[in-house]
Amino acid sequence: MAYCSKCGSQLNEGDKACGNCGEPVPGASRSTGNSSSNEMWMGILSYLGVLALIPYLVKDQTPFVHAHAVRGINLLLLEVIVWVAVGVFSWVPVLNDILSTLAGLASFVLSLIGIINVANKEDKDLPFIGTIRLIKD
Ligand SMILES: [Zn+2]
Repeated sequence: MAYCSKCGSQLNEGDKACGNCGEPVPGASRSTGNSSSNEMWMGILSYLGVLALIPYLVKDQTPFVHAHAVRGINLLLLEVIVWVAVGVFSWVPVLNDILSTLAGLASFVLSLIGIINVANKEDKDLPFIGTIRLIKD
């Protein structure tokens, strides 16, 4: 009977990762294991608004997930700032509509680019706002 090298939980025959802590089982294929798909879902959460806090705050994320979570939170903070800025013009009817539409579109497109990066397993910054770091990792 095998036991997890990290937490000591009992492993079932054929398990690719520990059911308790997610530690990959040595010898099991990594690319098809739970850790890989978990990494992908956590990465996608990074770009779904406040859900970015989950991969950011949950311990033991891979550097890949953590980097995306930081990007997601930066995007979120930037969106909040933009919405406040747009709110300043809320008394100007047409301008307010244009600004809200642009802000909504920009945050949608940037989130989508982030999710595509995660899906392609690419650890890269978002365009335009990639260098803006409101929080550090
Ligand atoms: Zn374990």
